[in-house]
Amino acid sequence: MFSQTLHTALNDQIKYEFDSAHLYLSMSAYFEGLNLPGFARWMRVQYQEEVSHALKFFDFINQRGSHVVMKAIDQPPTTFESTLDVFQQALANEQKVTALINQIYALAVQENDYPTQVMLHWFIMEQVEEEQSVSQIVELLKLSGGQGTALIMLDRQLAARKEDEH
Ligand code: MG
Repeated sequence: MFSQTLHTALNDQIKYEFDSAHLYLSMSAYFEGLNLPGFARWMRVQYQEEVSHALKFFDFINQRGSHVVMKAIDQPPTTFESTLDVFQQALANEQKVTALINQIYALAVQENDYPTQVMLHWFIMEQVEEEQSVSQIVELLKLSGGQGTALIMLDRQLAARKEDEH
């Protein structure tokens, strides 16, 4: 068991991970509409990853003998200005999630909750990878201008993303 404050933070994180999942599936739908199947697939895999993150928090709360309270998922944007706009919003979302995970970690340190600290180590490193992979795509889109042949080549590259690969 953990304190009420730590329980609330961990439980809320389930919602934030599902918010991310929902956002990325909406981005995948946007790319489907643009006939960019590689971008759509990349975001679909990202969606699946976020669901698995939510379930890690779900399982951990149960393992600790505490109770999960499911919360409503936020409505994500359904339209975007460009491929670059999508990835800039994805990066901002990952930066927000990193800050949330860091806050939970600080709380776990303050409360001397060692299992929560250890569980969060995986998430802290995961956020480094998430921010790096999304930033790389933002930079590639900026470099290429995000259109024409360059966009098609990037679409082919992103189509190769496998499940549980960053
Ligand atoms: Mg996540």
